[in-house]
Amino acid sequence: MKVSCPTCQAQVEWSTANQYRPFCSERCKLIDLGEWADESHRIAGEPDRQQIENMSDEELMEMMAKMQVPPKK
Ligand SMILES: [Zn+2]
Repeated sequence: MKVSCPTCQAQVEWSTANQYRPFCSERCKLIDLGEWADESHRIAGEPDRQQIENMSDEELMEMMAKMQVPPKK
């Protein structure tokens, strides 16, 4: 069975071997998980989604770390 990756729309095999399903990769999973932070913490000058997708994995991890916010009470 194949599904579309929610982030990049790539066709991915839905199998237990794919630990990132329904995403095609860890990168896409991180991007998707960052969406919520993107919406509530968006400030001018922050990279948009297109820029995020063009980032290297290192840059992405760095940005994700910055996006970490304390859980809502
Ligand atoms: Zn993807």
